Amino acid sequence: MWGKKAPASPPPRHAGLDPASTRVRLVEKTVANEANAHGPRNKSGVTVGGLKVSPTLLAGATLLGAAALAILVAERRRPLRDRTLPDRGRLPTNVALGAMSMAAMSAVEAPASRALARWCERNGVGVAQALPGPAWARDAVGFLLMDYTTYVWHVLTHEVPALWRLHLVHHVDLDLDASTALRFHAVDMLVSAPFRCAQVLVSGASPRALEVWRGWFFLAVLFHHSNLRLPERWDRLLALAVTTPRMHGIHHMAEPDRTGSNWSSGLSFWDRLHGTFRLDVPQRGQPIGVKAYREHLDVRPSLALPFSRQRDAWEPPPARNVGLGEEDHHARTAPAVPTQP
Ligand SMILES: [Zn+2]
Repeated sequence: MWGKKAPASPPPRHAGLDPASTRVRLVEKTVANEANAHGPRNKSGVTVGGLKVSPTLLAGATLLGAAALAILVAERRRPLRDRTLPDRGRLPTNVALGAMSMAAMSAVEAPASRALARWCERNGVGVAQALPGPAWARDAVGFLLMDYTTYVWHVLTHEVPALWRLHLVHHVDLDLDASTALRFHAVDMLVSAPFRCAQVLVSGASPRALEVWRGWFFLAVLFHHSNLRLPERWDRLLALAVTTPRMHGIHHMAEPDRTGSNWSSGLSFWDRLHGTFRLDVPQRGQPIGVKAYREHLDVRPSLALPFSRQRDAWEPPPARNVGLGEEDHHARTAPAVPTQP
């Protein structure tokens, strides 16, 4: 006690040396970085349903929604192909499968790929990030590579038997319209998540490039699955750059040599590059789907399809093997639903 040197005053708390304070500073810095990475959302957001959304995101979503609505209306007014089935069973099936797929995608693939894109940009990983030049040019490269690798993924979903089981759920639709764009198995979305992450890693797509590509992809998929009859000259002109309803209609025809073409999902260059582009088949009077499944599969059989015994997709099943429930019988014998000329 005596002689012990009592501190005259508490030592100055040097913020930089105090671990607790350092932690606080680090947290503050991280929060600030996160806010910057997400743009001006926290500064000038619009509140939608209690959530603060950036005006750019809201404008993009509104534009996408309006474009999707325009496609849905237009394909009813100017149909490209005659429909085989009434909407009654088919539309609710596709919407229900789509809701499950979107839930799976939003829970796994979207957050994982977004986080990875942020990491790639921060650490300079991937082709686009390794290139010199302005950010917009690197974003363009990231976008193009995301689009190209999606072509590769589509080929794999047809060529790898385990992936084809899942993709088959999409191809058994007996009609092709914008609702087919929703008809994917939720497990297909989960299985594609690691590939999507690999796409981001290889391409080096930044979060901006990834979001622009995602919006573009959504619209492109809705457009090329649609039953929209564009003037043939327009369709051919558009097909120089993007996948059109006529192009993708050939991919969904129930003949393997046709299904083995037009794999592009966004830009159509990739099919031209690989010699898989074709536009030489008329759309009317061509069965859509696969040969082995000529009955409508609603939600439950569609979900079970990848995990059940497979038929050879390109062989018509012997009549005795096909379920002849009332619905199946109707699907196999129903005349084409007349459409407007
Ligand atoms: Zn396909």
